[in-house]
Amino acid sequence: MIDRQRIIDNFLEMVKIPSPSLKERVIADYVKSQLEKIGLEVIEDNAGKSCNGNSGNIIGILKAKGSKNKKILFSAHMDTVSPCNKVVPIIENKIIKSDGNSILGGDDKAGIAAILEMLNQLKDNNLDHPDIIVVFSIAEEIGLLGARKLNIEKYAPDFGIIIDSGGKPGTVTIQAPFAAKGKIEIIGRSAHAGLEPENGINALVVASHAITKLRLGRVDEDTTSNIGVVVGGTAVNIVMPSISMIYEARSFDGKFLDELLIETKTIFRDTAKKFGAEFKEDIVKGYDGFKIEEGSEILKILEDACKNIDIEYKPIKSGGGSDTNIYNEKGIPSINIGIGMSKVHTTDEFIKIEDMIGCTKLLLSIIDKI
Ligand SMILES: [Zn+2]
Repeated sequence: MIDRQRIIDNFLEMVKIPSPSLKERVIADYVKSQLEKIGLEVIEDNAGKSCNGNSGNIIGILKAKGSKNKKILFSAHMDTVSPCNKVVPIIENKIIKSDGNSILGGDDKAGIAAILEMLNQLKDNNLDHPDIIVVFSIAEEIGLLGARKLNIEKYAPDFGIIIDSGGKPGTVTIQAPFAAKGKIEIIGRSAHAGLEPENGINALVVASHAITKLRLGRVDEDTTSNIGVVVGGTAVNIVMPSISMIYEARSFDGKFLDELLIETKTIFRDTAKKFGAEFKEDIVKGYDGFKIEEGSEILKILEDACKNIDIEYKPIKSGGGSDTNIYNEKGIPSINIGIGMSKVHTTDEFIKIEDMIGCTKLLLSIIDKI
């Protein structure tokens, strides 16, 4: 049923187009022409202008055929991480990978390829389908900027299916965490370490006292926190005048994350005060987390769709963020489904052709079950 050669050719064509975040122009024009060829109404929004990109999000609209009365969003992102200036895809043992000098960009061009093949199948086989909104977003990798700027409310889909994760087809992310990160600084006072150490305030000592009181690592089963970078000091004979740390915390429980952030800041502030040092921070919350309840309509459809084509339905929690977080934040129940992309964000990235095809079958099965 799936046109194997067409999806492979389309995928290879797209991965060869460099598309780092905010430089998606060429891939945007490519997917625009593909969508138009299939017969969708295509719109480019002005999301790129507000974040200095050279392309907007590409939105495709396909009116329903038959009696299915839902409106479904299908989405994947166009940008990739680097290195991506020259991607040379290689097919070996039914796996597509790069030549080792760049990422492959299956994250997330595999998602785009699956959506385009699904649309081609609907057209070629004259299949019934609901209203379909396709979004190929920009700047996902640098903070979900395209999805954030997109006026998705205008199109008002009932559900969102985002194709942007690993795992075999049938794997579905139904929960992702709230997240926060930022810099913490302790400013003490420098002094000659040999001549007058009592006139200094060692920022490292202050930070150390605070850190012993912090909850770091796996805070509870829903929450993690980490100090990943520390920078401080000027010379061995100078009392360390300041220290800065990069901190992050994530939790499936948004309220608990707020409490943990307050606790962390309070410990640093109180400790700094005790030592006569100064405390600064710029920790901000990024995207919101989400949780799709088991038994909700979208998951029932997905479970049926998996059964229909005899693949395992496998709901999972994810520790990372994607455009899915933004659509849920905007009130559209959305899930992120697996397409088998592996070792993403590395030059070892690869994808099995079977998984790309399996995911396309699943998309068609979802449409069938709506
Ligand atoms: Zn991605």
